[in-house]
Amino acid sequence: MLRRFIAQASLPQRCRCLITRQPSADTFRRCSSSSTAATPSSQVPVGTSGEPPPDAHFSDDYTSQPSARISVDRSGLNSPPEHSHEPLADSELVKHLKSIIKFRGGPISVAEYMEEVLINPKAGFYINRDVFGAEGDFITSPEVSQMFGEMIGVWAMCLWEQMGQPKRVNLVELGPGRGTLMADLLRGASKFEKFTQSINIHMIEVSPALKKIQKTTLKCNNEDGADENNATTLTGTPVSWHLTLEEVPTGLPTIIIAHEFFDALPVHQFQKASRGWCEKMIDVGEDSKFRVVLSPQPTPATLYLLKRCRWAQTEELTKLEHVEVCPKAMDLTQTIAKRISSDSGGALIIDYGLDSIISDSLQAIRKHKFVNILDDPGSADLSAYVDFPAIKHSAEEVSEDICVYGPITQSQFLGNLGINFRVEALLQNCTDEQAESLRTGYWQLVGDGEAPFWEGPDEQTPIGMGSRYLAMAIVNKKQGTPAPFY
Ligand code: SAH
Repeated sequence: MLRRFIAQASLPQRCRCLITRQPSADTFRRCSSSSTAATPSSQVPVGTSGEPPPDAHFSDDYTSQPSARISVDRSGLNSPPEHSHEPLADSELVKHLKSIIKFRGGPISVAEYMEEVLINPKAGFYINRDVFGAEGDFITSPEVSQMFGEMIGVWAMCLWEQMGQPKRVNLVELGPGRGTLMADLLRGASKFEKFTQSINIHMIEVSPALKKIQKTTLKCNNEDGADENNATTLTGTPVSWHLTLEEVPTGLPTIIIAHEFFDALPVHQFQKASRGWCEKMIDVGEDSKFRVVLSPQPTPATLYLLKRCRWAQTEELTKLEHVEVCPKAMDLTQTIAKRISSDSGGALIIDYGLDSIISDSLQAIRKHKFVNILDDPGSADLSAYVDFPAIKHSAEEVSEDICVYGPITQSQFLGNLGINFRVEALLQNCTDEQAESLRTGYWQLVGDGEAPFWEGPDEQTPIGMGSRYLAMAIVNKKQGTPAPFY
């Protein structure tokens, strides 16, 4: 089955340009070699120990936890604007965040901060621009190589076969970015007309700018222009856009793809203090800069912390000083599991993360470099490691009709699906430049560490995402075990 799909999948109409597929070594989104424990202190530099608390509200916390503050980018001091002694004006998003904190009468959770920074309807990071690729802030697997979307297409077709080739099926993508994965999936599957004719595509996207790009990538023809949330691809596949999964009509078998979506969901961060677990909050100090403080008493998100800790091993918990939980990921997983349970089908989640509880992974990336999470919010991507056991437990909690498989590494996932056959097929029919691009892309998707064959500039050495990214499937039990989780 897999061999047939891979061998017959349509050959590419293009090979992506080497340059745009070659992020520098430190550009790989979330591909730093740091472990989860490596990021926190660099993100939230700790203030002078013993400094008196600027805010009496949180005074207790400063004895057990030195105040944490934003690190300021002082690079501008070397070349100050002539005749100007004015501090840089706050951006609209910074003003907005400060006003929430002011009118709330106290700090906001890291999750609320993260959500505003990423998807605030006016100034959120994702909202108004294309953040991907060499010119953007980070790069993702579908942008690295067309083979990624094609292999996801193979996965989707195998599941569709296991479902008994339904005449109509919802194919949902959560957070489609530029729409590249879906376009590659459709092109790769184009020879399997029974499959392509069965699908209704549903894109879950919050960003109007990315939605526009997705329409172009999918070559959507929307001549009547009557409804900006519904269109048709040139080959006749209906595509709809929604803000949430709940908006996708029920009643059809459903295949859900979430690639690098869960990492963008807001996380709450907790820290062990002398009086127990406290939530890390974002406040504004007297110097008008953002800083991290600890909650003086339990917060509503503590319920999720308790729930998450019940799923953890005692040994896991005893060594942790920090814990991150993502209630939105847990809730979304339950929505996915219920949908798959009632309508049949399955979901594939691929993201960077761990098969264990997450300690402290929240990171900010701007223009392919790690920056402080409090630095110029809205201008850098914020993302956190995905807690795969929390997804598994959340799904199993709501339905007995589903089964969770994995996580397995991206390398195992793509390898067992047959990416080697795919790359060989593509290499038989391409130019030297395309062959180089294919080989580099292949390495980036399934390799680990630095590519051994690289002869270009050191700072552009491709780094493999093969074991840092994990794949998990949630499938209706009726379908049996999904490929390639046998
Ligand atoms: N899957 C794509 C893009 C990943 S980036 C890829 O791999 O290239 C995250 C995507 O999720 C973006 O499209 C972003 O706009 C979207 N997104 C982030 N938070 C969202 C939310 N809460 N609801 C809907 N879409 C969201």
